[in-house]
Amino acid sequence: MAKRVGVLALQGDFAAHREKLRALGAKVIEIRNPSDIDGVDGIVLPGGESGVMLRLMSSELRAQLYNRISEGAPTLSTCAGTILLAKNVRNPAQDSLGLLDIDIERNAYGRQLDSFIARDVPWTAESGRFENIIRGTVEAVFIRAPKIVRVGPSVKTLINVLEHPVLVTEGDIFAATFHPELSHSDSQIHDLFLSRL
Ligand code: GLN
Repeated sequence: MAKRVGVLALQGDFAAHREKLRALGAKVIEIRNPSDIDGVDGIVLPGGESGVMLRLMSSELRAQLYNRISEGAPTLSTCAGTILLAKNVRNPAQDSLGLLDIDIERNAYGRQLDSFIARDVPWTAESGRFENIIRGTVEAVFIRAPKIVRVGPSVKTLINVLEHPVLVTEGDIFAATFHPELSHSDSQIHDLFLSRL
């Protein structure tokens, strides 16, 4: 049976995740209400504006997301989605679900590097456990990206760019500060997430 992935669809680039996941054979449910989360096997928190997502999220939806992710539902977050998961958010400080033991600084690449694409970025040694899925290097698209400025002891870094972690994992959470959903010829990171479902 097709894997059922719930994509948070309040705001941001959820459609890009939806198309990539469908192309990989998953059934996509757009999450707007708490009941949309019932029966999904995994959750995607997309890029966009984390502050706007928080404002649009009802307390019931927030509680339901919190519960499913903390119970271990495999989760992929990109950019703003990773800001939503982080334990501590700076620049400016912002509320979050606090489910991933990282600290993150929003809009942290400054004006010149505001948005950029890093090509042929290698995975790090920590990704050895996923070697049946990864294919050497990835393309990483950054759009007003945050920087992960602290990783907790149980968080593993899978990819670094400019000496900062840009893809980390803890349990079955995979959190990127870039946008793998926008790299059309590469699905390694979505494959990695789907392999946990
Ligand atoms: N700057 C956005 C934020 O702070 C994140 C940007 C993105 O998701 N591309 O929420």
